[in-house]
Amino acid sequence: MSRVVVVGGGLGGLAASALLAQAGHAVTLLEAATTLGGKSRRIELDGQRIDTGPSLVTFPAVWDELLHRLDAGPARITDVGALDLQRLPEIGRYHYAGETVSLPVPAGHPWHAAWQRFSEIHAPLADDVTALLLTDPRSRGALPAVRRLLGVYGSRLTTRAYLDSLTWLPDGLREVIAIHTLNAGVSPARTPALYASMPAIMAATGAWVPRGGVHEIVTALRRLAEAAGVEVLTGQAVTRIRRGRVRTAQREHAADLVVSGLDEDRLGALLGRPAPRRPRTLSCSAIAVHGVLSAPLPEHVPAHSVVLPRHPAALHRSLAAGDEPADTMAFVNHYRAGEVYPNTRSTVGVLLTGPANDERYTVDHPFVQREIVRISETLGLDASLTEGMTESVVLDPHHYGSFGEPHGALYGAARPAWQSGPFHQPAYRDLRAPWLWRVGASVHPGGGIPAVLGGAMIATARLLARHPA
Ligand SMILES: Cc1cc2nc3c(=O)[nH]c(=O)nc-3n(C[C@H](O)[C@H](O)[C@H](O)COP(=O)(O)OP(=O)(O)OC[C@H]3O[C@@H](n4cnc5c(N)ncnc54)[C@H](O)[C@@H]3O)c2cc1C
Repeated sequence: MSRVVVVGGGLGGLAASALLAQAGHAVTLLEAATTLGGKSRRIELDGQRIDTGPSLVTFPAVWDELLHRLDAGPARITDVGALDLQRLPEIGRYHYAGETVSLPVPAGHPWHAAWQRFSEIHAPLADDVTALLLTDPRSRGALPAVRRLLGVYGSRLTTRAYLDSLTWLPDGLREVIAIHTLNAGVSPARTPALYASMPAIMAATGAWVPRGGVHEIVTALRRLAEAAGVEVLTGQAVTRIRRGRVRTAQREHAADLVVSGLDEDRLGALLGRPAPRRPRTLSCSAIAVHGVLSAPLPEHVPAHSVVLPRHPAALHRSLAAGDEPADTMAFVNHYRAGEVYPNTRSTVGVLLTGPANDERYTVDHPFVQREIVRISETLGLDASLTEGMTESVVLDPHHYGSFGEPHGALYGAARPAWQSGPFHQPAYRDLRAPWLWRVGASVHPGGGIPAVLGGAMIATARLLARHPA
């Protein structure tokens, strides 16, 4: 049995701690904040529950696999991890250049035939992508899935190159598909071709929300970790990591192994490594306006809308340069009273994709105001979204930077397409400090919850192969 200290109680750190403790190691998890969850946070506004950060769960098979692996330990603990995942009727309603479309594209829409053709190629890759989310890319088990994927994309290595080669796609639908790479924090020219398949796979396998809100995943992971025997300590900011010890303001923890669930730059500072050279391209950040509404939005507004920018290429250029764009991609998450959350009033979250500029924003900031007006008009509302809010909060790049990448980049530094996915950098195990392992979003840029949880499973399986309890 080794003493393992897991640093950071986001989804990645929590999942890794539960897996390692269930395998028999003595695990302590240190979280700086007073609450767990990191980017997946829960707040209360005007007496209503609002989960900030992730709003949709994709690839639900990844959660099932995590529970399955946790069941392999000496005691059955997975009952405490049960989630009531509810499938949404559509993955979202998209607005681009005057066109409105749901995914999957319904019959009767001018893009339906092209979407069907696209889906027939990509939806069948769902099992292969799920396998890659869960399989160590160095193992032979990953090869069949990789082969099938390469059979589809051929030599078109990036999402942009691949989508541009599909000349039969209507331009608008191509942009709606391509914009999904911003879920990975970067432009389609920086993601592997695989990301082109995601909208079709998501449409086939569903977008899900746990009843009670996405933060239920955090509370379930905490229960699982504690049931596996993890010592969970909150309010313990780690100030230094060295071989054999992890220091917080309160005390020093002895550690045979350390697992970091932190952003890579933040980890580097704790290890005393020099800060990365600037300038470099960062993944995007967000400006999220969450509010409680005095009245629900009109019936025609669904739970999840996506409003695209007028010129996606200009947005990608601005984000890569760290500049505020003219307009951006926005998610609008609208939950009516009693829908998903146990709330008595409707809530709305407007997530504006923004540059990782460490800036603070308010609802009165010109960029936020301009976008709120554009989005409200696009959704066909009579008044601006923020006018109907009785209480609101803005989470900005400065907020995300206060505990993640210091400029607020949600997925750390942007990397070339070939360095994400299976060949990601940084690696799970630190080559300079072999006692140090990594999990979390900066190891798996862009995969969101499935990649963070899948990555935690792959990293801990590799760790356990070297250090069985
Ligand atoms: C606005 C937004 C929308 C998103 N939407 C989706 C979505 O719809 N679907 C999806 O799948 N994904 C989505 N994501 C991505 C998803 O939320 C993240 O990928 C995931 O939550 C990241 O988890 P993590 O474990 O890597 O890290 P984090 O959540 O960053 O956790 C790191 C933890 O480390 C702690 N920490 C930092 N420094 C220290 C220290 N010195 N000592 C101790 N602890 C420390 C932090 O407090 C934090 O709790 C979204 C993210 C955001 C921000």
